[in-house]
Amino acid sequence: MKTVVTARRLYTPIDELADPFLVIEDGHISEISSRTSRATPTNATVVDFGDAALAPGFLDIHIHGGAGLDVMRASTEELPGLGEFLTTHGVTGYFATTVAAPLDATCAALDRLAGSIEKKSSAGKSTPEARPLGIHLEGPFLSHKRRGVHPPEYLVEPTVPIFERLWQAARGHVRMLTIAPEVPGAMEVIAEAARRNVCVSIGHSDAELPVAREAVKAGARHATHTFNAMRPLDHRNPGIIGEVLSDDTITADIIVDGIHVSPEVVKLFLQAKGPERAVLITDAMSATGMPDGQYQLGPIQVEVKDGKATAGDSLAGSVLTMDRAVRNVTRFSYWTLREAVRAATLNPAHAVGLAAKYGKLAPGLEANFVVLSPAGDVIKTVVGGGGL
Ligand SMILES: [Zn+2]
Repeated sequence: MKTVVTARRLYTPIDELADPFLVIEDGHISEISSRTSRATPTNATVVDFGDAALAPGFLDIHIHGGAGLDVMRASTEELPGLGEFLTTHGVTGYFATTVAAPLDATCAALDRLAGSIEKKSSAGKSTPEARPLGIHLEGPFLSHKRRGVHPPEYLVEPTVPIFERLWQAARGHVRMLTIAPEVPGAMEVIAEAARRNVCVSIGHSDAELPVAREAVKAGARHATHTFNAMRPLDHRNPGIIGEVLSDDTITADIIVDGIHVSPEVVKLFLQAKGPERAVLITDAMSATGMPDGQYQLGPIQVEVKDGKATAGDSLAGSVLTMDRAVRNVTRFSYWTLREAVRAATLNPAHAVGLAAKYGKLAPGLEANFVVLSPAGDVIKTVVGGGGL
C-alpha cells in the first residue's frame, strides 16, 4: 500500500521543504519530493494536512514516565501505555531513564526494560506507540552534593564491575549514562562506557572545570539537564557549566519547561550550544498527563502541584511534554520552529549515536513523523507508517 502525505512544509530537519510530497510504502519513507514537481500516483491514498508542517518524530533521551506509569515499576505489558501517551505529544522514540534505587531493584527494572526494547516493533499499528529505543542510567554514579532527589542511600561510587552488572542486567541496551566525573572511580567507568558506545553524559555533578574537561577527554560527550543539579556557574570559577557551554565538541541537554531554568538562561544556553548541539529533554515523570497529586519516581514519592513536581525542597523531574518544550524554545528565543524541532529530533539522535536511523526524514527510513500546526501543536503522530 502506498500513501502520499502532503502539507505546507517539511523539516528534514536540517532543511525546510515547501509543499512536500512524502511517500510511504510498507511503513517506510520511499520518497520525499515537492508537490509542484510531481504528479500524484494513481494507486496511492493521499492524506493532505493543509497548512501543517511534517517533522521527524521527537526523541526523548531522558524520560522517567508519564500517564501514571513509571519506567522502573511498569510491567512489560503496561509500558506500551506510556508509548501511546507519548505519541499524543509527538514522540516516536525514547530512552527509558532510571533513577538511583537499590541495585537489585534497578537490575530487575533493567531486565524488564530490555524485554520491552527487544519486543517486536509495533510499527504500522493503527494506534501508534512511541518505542523504547534504549536505556539511560541516571545514576547510581552521582554526586552526593548535587544528587537532586536521587536518594543518597542508593548512590554508588562508580566501578567497572558495578557498571558491568547493570550492563548485563540491561542485556547491553544501556545507551546513555549520566555520571558525576569528580566521584572517585568515575573516569575509568566513563572510558569503559564510551568504549561500549554508550553516550556518557556528565551531570548531577559538583565538578570544577578541569575535571569536567578531563571527563570529556576520557570519553564523555554530552551533559545532562544543564544547570540543574550542577555546580553553579561563576564567571571567575566557571566549573562544569563553563566546560559544558564553551566546549564545541560536546552536546548538552536542557529542560525547557520554564520552571527548571529561567527563559533568559534557556536563551543563553541555546546561543552557547547552537542549533547543532542543543538537545531538548523532558525529564518527565509518571505524573505527566495526569492530575495534581502524589506519584512515584522510582523509589521516590513525589508531589505534583500546578505543574511542578517536588520531593522535599528539590524538583523531582517534570511534567513537561516534548511538544511543549519545542513551543517554549520558540517563545524563549529567536529560534524558528524548524530549529526547535531539530533540538528534539536530529540533535538527540546524533548525541546518542542513532542518527543513521532516527531523528530525520529521509527515503529508506521508517516513517516516524509528527504533523505540527504552524504554532507547533501536534495534529498527528505516525510510527512506522501507522496512525494516519
Ligand atoms: Zn531525570
